[in-house]
Amino acid sequence: MAMPDQARAAVPLRWRSAALTDRGRVRVRNEDAFLASADSALYAVADGMGGHAAGDVASRLAVRALGAAFDGEHPPAADAESLAARLRAAFVQANETILEHARVNSACAGMGTTLTCLAPLSTTSDCVLVHIGDSRAYCLRGGDLVQLTRDHTWVQEQVDAGMLTPRQARHHPNSSVLTRVLGMPDPGPADAAVVEVEPGDRYLLCSDGLTNMIEHPDLREMLLRDVPLEQHARDLIDAANLRGGIDNATVVLLAADRV
Ligand code: CA
Repeated sequence: MAMPDQARAAVPLRWRSAALTDRGRVRVRNEDAFLASADSALYAVADGMGGHAAGDVASRLAVRALGAAFDGEHPPAADAESLAARLRAAFVQANETILEHARVNSACAGMGTTLTCLAPLSTTSDCVLVHIGDSRAYCLRGGDLVQLTRDHTWVQEQVDAGMLTPRQARHHPNSSVLTRVLGMPDPGPADAAVVEVEPGDRYLLCSDGLTNMIEHPDLREMLLRDVPLEQHARDLIDAANLRGGIDNATVVLLAADRV
């Protein structure tokens, strides 16, 4: 997922999407939010957190700030590097919006949100992925499901340092402690990458309410089923709920097919 040295030739792609969010079976509120805008070619998932019902405020502010930064523009940018820069700037703006809202609304003090955004370019067959927090992006290609994002969590840092195995991290009591998140005075940098899209690719953006309930092999198997995109979204949410639905779950599914 490195920045390409030069823009790849455009392969005409038709993007389709399906998105769904669900409160789950335990939580009283849904603090997730998503953006699925074909008009501005922006797709995002945000997972809010914060006491006194502020998490939903943070996640909604984040996706709204992201959408407003492009304001229905299509295409949002001509090349991957400028699009990545604009998306990162939109993340900074989203962070400032959340901080300002929390400053003037004391009930929202300390709220935060993840934000994972995928933006297809119209000039090449690439898309730009910008991400902060522990919501995730995956790519399904040729039967392989690859996680494109790295969680900004304490347990991921322990895995990277060889102190925990991925399985230990998954079940660790501190598994949800975030190291980077929007809503902090210094949230840390968002990760940005260019994804070289192949016709037939499927992309999944999701909150941890999905991935904590459905492990990677099951996720892959479900995404390989030959059902319409909308049905995939429904099936993933239903599976998370059948397995306990202990958190809000959100999915944005994208299909890139040759025109
Ligand atoms: Ca969550």
